[in-house]
Amino acid sequence: MDKNSEKYKEFRKRANKANRKYFSKPEVREKKNAYSKKYRIENKGKISEYGKRIRALPKTKERIKIWKEKNREHIKEYYKRPEVRARKKVSNKKHYNKRRSNPENVIKEIEEKREYRKNNLEKTRRWNSKYYKSPKGLKKSALGYRERKRRLECSSNNMSKEMRKIIFERDKVCVYCGGNNKLGLDHIVSLKSRGNSLFNNFVVSCRVCNSKKGHQDVIEWYKQKKELVPKIILELLKKQKI
Ligand SMILES: [Zn+2]
Repeated sequence: MDKNSEKYKEFRKRANKANRKYFSKPEVREKKNAYSKKYRIENKGKISEYGKRIRALPKTKERIKIWKEKNREHIKEYYKRPEVRARKKVSNKKHYNKRRSNPENVIKEIEEKREYRKNNLEKTRRWNSKYYKSPKGLKKSALGYRERKRRLECSSNNMSKEMRKIIFERDKVCVYCGGNNKLGLDHIVSLKSRGNSLFNNFVVSCRVCNSKKGHQDVIEWYKQKKELVPKIILELLKKQKI
């Protein structure tokens, strides 16, 4: 049948009407909903893959962009709704925690931020000066100034080259995992836990272990991992009289 003929159009019209009538019956609708729910659960991966693929198509991308451009005000209003904001907050946090649970991602994030700052110096400077004039920023700068200064003075970047060399010669590899990828120095007792920046508080550590350990107490950390604390760390802690 010719799809452009009047006869066909009439036929489609009638068929659509019959379909609508059939699917509006409560028992049919229920059955249909149950089936699609089951399908969605069973084919979660397939559906999300499909969505991803479709959204990545240049045509769709362009269409979404145009739509967003046209409905900018509408979108703004939408994200101001309290229920939407609450939902977004939860999902953001979930996403953030998931990302943060992988130390590789933490490192990536730091590097990305650094790169962004480098490329947008003026912008970040403007933001910073605006932030530190806001009530939140003022509070932060007033409360944290001494602490920030102390940490800066103690940071391993300020350490003398000789001291760095001695520590690297002593440890050679990451004291936590024995690896030698992206080595740096780590405070055994973190500065946040009032650790110092004297010779006996430094060990060589890879970046992955460094970010995994974070500000945790080193002995607690090993207890959690169910591993023995390396001898060198115990010796250094003893020398610190902790
Ligand atoms: Zn390591």
